[in-house]
Amino acid sequence: MKSNADGTFSDGAIIPFGTFQINPNSSVLNYGQGLFEGMKAYRREDGGVQIFRPEQNALRMQMGADRLLMPSPSVHQYVDAVKQVIRANIRWVPPYGKGSLYVRPLLFGSGSVLGISPAPQCTFLIYTNPLSNFYQGTSTSLSLLVDEKLPRAFPGGTGGIKNISNYSPVFQVVKEAKAKGFSDVLFLDAVEHKYVEEVSSCNAFIVKDNVILTPPATGTILPGVTRNSIIQLARDLGYQAEECKFSVDELLEADEVFCTGTAVGISAVGRATYKEKRVDFKTGEDTLTQKLYDLITGIQKGVVEDTKGWVVNI
Ligand code: PMP
Repeated sequence: MKSNADGTFSDGAIIPFGTFQINPNSSVLNYGQGLFEGMKAYRREDGGVQIFRPEQNALRMQMGADRLLMPSPSVHQYVDAVKQVIRANIRWVPPYGKGSLYVRPLLFGSGSVLGISPAPQCTFLIYTNPLSNFYQGTSTSLSLLVDEKLPRAFPGGTGGIKNISNYSPVFQVVKEAKAKGFSDVLFLDAVEHKYVEEVSSCNAFIVKDNVILTPPATGTILPGVTRNSIIQLARDLGYQAEECKFSVDELLEADEVFCTGTAVGISAVGRATYKEKRVDFKTGEDTLTQKLYDLITGIQKGVVEDTKGWVVNI
């Protein structure tokens, strides 16, 4: 779909996956005026297909569009387009328990710009890709390098939105960490270099004495849909779950650490390394991480009752 002069979007069309033309002087190519989202469609045991809280992704895209001076599709247009694209690709949604269909909406400045300014026209498009279960629940765990060298986001920057240009600056530090055997990097804040922010593509949580903490979403971390869902589910189970600043030293003292995101689901962190200090955390069957994993993935895959009305049928 393309935006109209008044900032609304007209209905789009389903076309086969392939290359498309874009102006060399578009604002996305020159200035990174673009956003993305990530969602997953799951097949239930009864063969039906469902998605999880899609309106939350639509609202996050609208928030990002406001920040980058782009018009955005309405929540209804967004969710409807996602449904249409999944229906057109329904045969690619893996069988129950065998993975998901990843759905990637993009919104970007496709109109031509002369100077450094927002594009007069934007494009909203969605593509899909089947995914296998690459994380097998919490039976495997992540090893994170805590790094203060390069913060992921700065106060007043774009860390709070899914701006396409947030991701390439961390390629280098993540590549270096992987070369040393780590799964990913846990970034610290850009001002005091001691408060935990997030991992390159997921949110961070700690558990200490059955209290669950995650950093507050005050503009430098992405307010994850999974993060918000886990806070609500943990509270429903009777746990104290808070959005609260905590330092790397507090993280190293935690009982459990886990990450949340659409792609990673809930992943236990088995080890963190900070300034050569390695600390192991509790993982496995008898953890709160596992309990929350079972609950949210059960809802997403349709085997646990969705009492919150989060699931949308395709
Ligand atoms: N932080 C970052 C930087 C991410 O890219 C993602 C993935 N969207 C998340 C957190 C988790 O967000 P969500 O749970 O909405 O996938």
